[in-house]
Amino acid sequence: MSAYSEQKILHVHHWNDSLFSLRVARPPSLRFESGHFVMIGLVVEGKPLMRAYSIASAVYDDHLEFLSIKVPDGPLTSRLQHVRVGETLLVGRKPVGTLVIDDLKPGRHLYLFGSGTGLAPYMSIIQDPAVYERFEKVVLVHSVRRVNELAYADFIRNELPASELIGEEVRRQLVYYPTVTREAFATRGRITELISSGKMFEDLGVPRFNAQDDRAMLCGSPSMLEELSRMLDGHGLRVSPQQGHAGDYVIERAFVEK
Ligand SMILES: Cc1cc2nc3c(=O)[nH]c(=O)nc-3n(C[C@H](O)[C@H](O)[C@H](O)COP(=O)(O)OP(=O)(O)OC[C@H]3O[C@@H](n4cnc5c(N)ncnc54)[C@H](O)[C@@H]3O)c2cc1C
Repeated sequence: MSAYSEQKILHVHHWNDSLFSLRVARPPSLRFESGHFVMIGLVVEGKPLMRAYSIASAVYDDHLEFLSIKVPDGPLTSRLQHVRVGETLLVGRKPVGTLVIDDLKPGRHLYLFGSGTGLAPYMSIIQDPAVYERFEKVVLVHSVRRVNELAYADFIRNELPASELIGEEVRRQLVYYPTVTREAFATRGRITELISSGKMFEDLGVPRFNAQDDRAMLCGSPSMLEELSRMLDGHGLRVSPQQGHAGDYVIERAFVEK
């Protein structure tokens, strides 16, 4: 059996000239945990060209959704950004990843820190009832450069709270805190700046991090992960040492710099 299945593209949405979302049929046998990523790709010159992608749809959805960057000369995304409904996407058979709630110690507040496409795994996590059973409050912090990069903002603000399945938990427990670094917006600045200045805590009306109550997931550029990890360590939070071993926070790269 091939390592990839062929799935029909059901929907493509372009957010702007650097970001798009892609929806495909879900292979019936594909199981995953909220926060996992899977390899997806296209056949290029007769061979599969695959990249890691976080799954942005809920574990109970009958489709798989992905949020993608468009890298102008990127081997995969220079092609993937042109796909159309009805064409075929290769989807790996084995979702994996470290952004799973089982690798977090019990706590009261779950912070989901994402920059850019680092939002993708959290789109799955904030739709998972198990997350709201485990944590009293879930704070989604998404940082982007420009306002039109705030993918799914309308879905998070308006559709999710009205969902029959998860709306009640979302209205009661989810806090969405988007921030923009290069344009005017209600909240401005990088996540690390908003934490070190204390502004994020003031805006949210919560105390600064403490290792007893607070748990976190981090997904972003390598430099954002490094800086934010240092800050969490400074507040006494400890990273999960490896998959299957719980910590106060877990990390996933949103991409690898080459
Ligand atoms: C665990 C994991 C999960 C990932 N999940 C996603 C996801 O959900 N959505 C997604 O778009 N990408 C994701 N990526 C990145 C993805 O695997 C590819 O790198 C990306 O699709 C670009 O592919 P490419 O072949 O066009 O260019 P590549 O040759 O893969 O990348 C070229 C360069 O583009 C930049 N780059 C790549 N990806 C990104 C990105 N997401 N944001 C900003 N700059 C980037 C980097 O500088 C990289 O060196 C993930 C990567 C990892 C390791």
